Amino acid sequence: MNPAPGVSVTVVNPQAKAPYTGMLPGFIAGHYDRSALDIDLVKLARRAGARLITDFATGIDVAGKQVSLAERPDIAYDTLSVDIGITTKLPIIAGAAQHAVSAKPLGPFANQWEAFLTRSKRDEVTPQIAVIGGGVAGVELALAMAYRVQSEGFETTPVKLIEAKPDILRETGSAVRRKLRRELNHYGINVITNARVKKITASGMAFEAGLKDVQANFVVTATGARPHNWLSETGLKLHEGYIEVDDRLRSINTPGIFAAGDCAHMAFAPRPKAGVFAVRQAPVLLNNLRADLSGRKMRLYRPQKSYLKLISTGRKSAITDKWGLAPKGKFIWRLKDKIDRDFMDQFQMTP
Ligand SMILES: Cc1cc2nc3c(=O)[nH]c(=O)nc-3n(C[C@H](O)[C@H](O)[C@H](O)COP(=O)(O)OP(=O)(O)OC[C@H]3O[C@@H](n4cnc5c(N)ncnc54)[C@H](O)[C@@H]3O)c2cc1C
Repeated sequence: MNPAPGVSVTVVNPQAKAPYTGMLPGFIAGHYDRSALDIDLVKLARRAGARLITDFATGIDVAGKQVSLAERPDIAYDTLSVDIGITTKLPIIAGAAQHAVSAKPLGPFANQWEAFLTRSKRDEVTPQIAVIGGGVAGVELALAMAYRVQSEGFETTPVKLIEAKPDILRETGSAVRRKLRRELNHYGINVITNARVKKITASGMAFEAGLKDVQANFVVTATGARPHNWLSETGLKLHEGYIEVDDRLRSINTPGIFAAGDCAHMAFAPRPKAGVFAVRQAPVLLNNLRADLSGRKMRLYRPQKSYLKLISTGRKSAITDKWGLAPKGKFIWRLKDKIDRDFMDQFQMTP
C-alpha cells in the first residue's frame, strides 16, 4: 500500500484468493460463507500496484536469481521472500493422493468440502467422513464437519477421527483435552487410536495392524506439518525441510532470500507452526525486504513466548488453551469471531 520508489513487486500464488485458516472451521461448520474466508489477492495486488501471477513456484535458481514456475516462464528477482506455508498431504500412504484431501493447502480443501456438501444435498452420496490426525487441527475439523452434517439433517454415519498414536491431543493441556473429548462425545465422533493407515481407497481405508477397515467417502488428512519437497533442491539451508532463517528472517546461507511463516525455521528461537508468528513477522519482513534493496538498517524479529489459542467446537462455541485453564463457551466464540473478522476487515480497505 506504500510502494517503494523504483521497486516492482510480483506475488506468486496458485489461486487468486487466499483462504484464512482462522475462519476455516467456521466455514466448514456453515457459520461463514466462502467469501468471508477468502482474501482477494487480485484486488489487493491491484491496490498495491503489484503484479500477481497465479501459478506454483517450483524451484529457485539462487545463483541466477530466478524463480521457476509450473506453467509460465521463470521470473527474475533481486530480493525474494518465500512464504509458501506447509502441506498436510500424506504422500507415503497408498491411495492418499487420489482418495484423500489434505487440510492444507486450504483452497482446494474448502472447494472439495463445498462440492461434497452439494452432492450430499442432492442425495448423490451419504456422508461418511474420516479425519486422519488427532491433533488440534484434526479435532477442530472433525467437530466442524460433524456439526455441519448433523445440522444439515443428512443421513450419515458417525465421523471417524483416526490417530496412529495411543492418544489424541497430546500437545494441549489436560483441561482442554478433557473438554474437547467431551465435545467429540457430544457429536458421536468415533475416535480410533493406535490406528496407522496403510491404504486409502474410494470406499475407505485399511490399517496396518489387524484393525477393521473403516468406510469413508470423504477423507481428510490433518497429520501435522510437512515441508514442501521442492525446497530441498534449492540449495537453501534447511532444517528438517524448512528454510533456516536468522533473526532478520534472512536465509542463513543465501543473501537476498527471506522466508517467513510456516515454511521458515527460526533457528535462533524455534516456535510451533502457528499463524500468529506469520502475522507478527510481516512488518519486520516488510522493513527488511525494503532494507535489503535500499541498504537501510534491518529490524530484528523477536517471537513472543506464548500466544492465545482459540479452538472452535462445531457449533458457535470455542475453547481457549491458555495458562493451563480452558474456559469454553459462546463468549469465547464471539471473541474468536471478532478477532478473525477484524483481521479480515484489514483487507477490505478502499484505495
Ligand atoms: C485447520 C487449521 C486451523 C488452524 N487454526 C489456526 C488458528 O486458529 N490460529 C493460528 O495461529 N494458526 C492456526 N493454524 C495454523 C495456520 O494456518 C498457519 O500457521 C498459517 O496459515 C501460516 O501462514 P503462512 O503464510 O506461513 O502459510 P499459509 O497460510 O499456508 O499460506 C501459504 C500460501 O502459499 C501458497 N503456496 C504454497 N505453495 C506454493 C508454491 N509452490 N508457489 C506459490 N504459492 C504457494 C499457498 O497456496 C498459500 O496461499 C491452523 C491450521 C489448520 C490446518
